[in-house]
Amino acid sequence: MSTVSTVNGGIAFWYAQEGTPAPREPLPGDASADVCIVGGGYTGLWTAYYLKKAVPFLNITVLEAKFCGYGASGRNGGWLYNGIAGRGRYAELHGHDAAVRLQQAMNGTVDEVVRVAAEEHIDADIHRGGVLEVAYTPAQLARLKAFHSVETAFGETDRVLRGARETAERIRITGAVGSSWSPHGARLHPAKLVKGLADTVEALGVTIHESTPVTEIRPKHAVTPYGTVRAPYVLRCTEGFTAGLKGQKRTWLPMNSSMIVTEPLPERVWDTIGWEGRETLGDMAHAYMYAQRTADDRIAIGGRGVPYRFGSATDNDGRTQPATIEALRDLLVRFFPTTAGSRIDHAWSGVLGVPRDWCATVTLDRTTGLGWAGGYVGSGVATANLAARTLRDLIQQDSGQAGPTDLTALPWVNHKVRRWEPEPFRWLGVHAMYAAYRAADRRETASPGLGTDPLAKAADRLAGRH
Ligand SMILES: Cc1cc2nc3c(=O)[nH]c(=O)nc-3n(C[C@H](O)[C@H](O)[C@H](O)COP(=O)(O)OP(=O)(O)OC[C@H]3O[C@@H](n4cnc5c(N)ncnc54)[C@H](O)[C@@H]3O)c2cc1C
Repeated sequence: MSTVSTVNGGIAFWYAQEGTPAPREPLPGDASADVCIVGGGYTGLWTAYYLKKAVPFLNITVLEAKFCGYGASGRNGGWLYNGIAGRGRYAELHGHDAAVRLQQAMNGTVDEVVRVAAEEHIDADIHRGGVLEVAYTPAQLARLKAFHSVETAFGETDRVLRGARETAERIRITGAVGSSWSPHGARLHPAKLVKGLADTVEALGVTIHESTPVTEIRPKHAVTPYGTVRAPYVLRCTEGFTAGLKGQKRTWLPMNSSMIVTEPLPERVWDTIGWEGRETLGDMAHAYMYAQRTADDRIAIGGRGVPYRFGSATDNDGRTQPATIEALRDLLVRFFPTTAGSRIDHAWSGVLGVPRDWCATVTLDRTTGLGWAGGYVGSGVATANLAARTLRDLIQQDSGQAGPTDLTALPWVNHKVRRWEPEPFRWLGVHAMYAAYRAADRRETASPGLGTDPLAKAADRLAGRH
């Protein structure tokens, strides 16, 4: 397999395929709006969409630092699935039933995104094959079974546990000993979705200014180098880039995730792999991978790589480290040995937002009119849609146009968490955590025992994860 001709960066392969969208005009000067949304990713654009649909006369302005879809929304693995960061913690804080309601809302969110994409004629290569998670060591199998039971307890009774032989009937992964499949997932093309959304909200009458970085958000103000937008509601939808805003350095940690994509694979390779169901694919390693079979028959596979850059820095237009490209390529070939001769066309990275307690949240502060949503960790493709509908309901409630709804009563609404530690502790902590996860994965593979390696448990405690 060759990486000599691999393009590294360029934001993401999805844009090499689709082309970057034509730029929209920056903010021309001071302006006012009913709602100002900072960040043109899924969170910001879905929020604009639902607000405008609910109240067509609302004057909504989206301010985007680069272009809509520049962030994780244009770079991700295309898993539209029902996972939400923090569900276990929300069960502890608000009770099991509240967390089940959150889970059910997430299940419905997958349907909602598929529905709206069809209704708005957004062709995002959506294929509803479900989510397949595989185990390839005894310890992973034990975790897979435990995970399967937990998901069932949260209401996913339509989940299917499969042994090695049944798994191989779906997809042939070297050493796979079992899998868990959920119908609540779909594969999509991230950039097509975010571009389609931006075009849709613009056509509805939402104003989008690109190349307009917001430097500071304060009550009723979004400040940019070109002018200030004044609005009763200002919503921060900047996820992994949040640390770049004044006063937000330690709010959400920008965690890296990196991906590679193969050339389109020939039929003879697919004959050895299977994967006709085009399920989104993940594993049960501590430093887990995620993958999809693209519409044009490539494999796109991602993982953590270098987890975090010192001082909450973000990447340079998606460039990733050569060592990460090699590690992902090795993983791909370990999973699917017949891809060994295939070209890796593109590699890239992006940032996702991680709160100190690893719990996604959606918040509207009614005293200031400031709102935000995010901290999705690695599960934002669907979650951003639920957050957006919730922000719509919170704003409608606050402005007296509607009362509380099922969405405003979900346990992740208005959740508060402490900030991350200052440097160098932040960097040391995250790097130690991932070093421990990787060591635990190696030990579980080298000397298979049934239990999770203690190093991984220690890393969970260090991270403050539940
Ligand atoms: C490589 C990778 C793979 C992933 N794979 C998956 C997956 O398969 N499934 C899944 O569920 N999740 C996945 N995620 C996470 C998911 O993509 C994100 O959670 C989701 O896209 C977040 O959307 P968002 O709109 O909140 O943030 P973003 O998409 O990051 O959008 C934020 C936007 O705000 C803009 N911005 C930032 N700062 C400012 C500012 N100061 N002023 C104005 N604009 C600003 C940015 O340019 C950006 O466009 C992945 C993430 C990455 C990085």
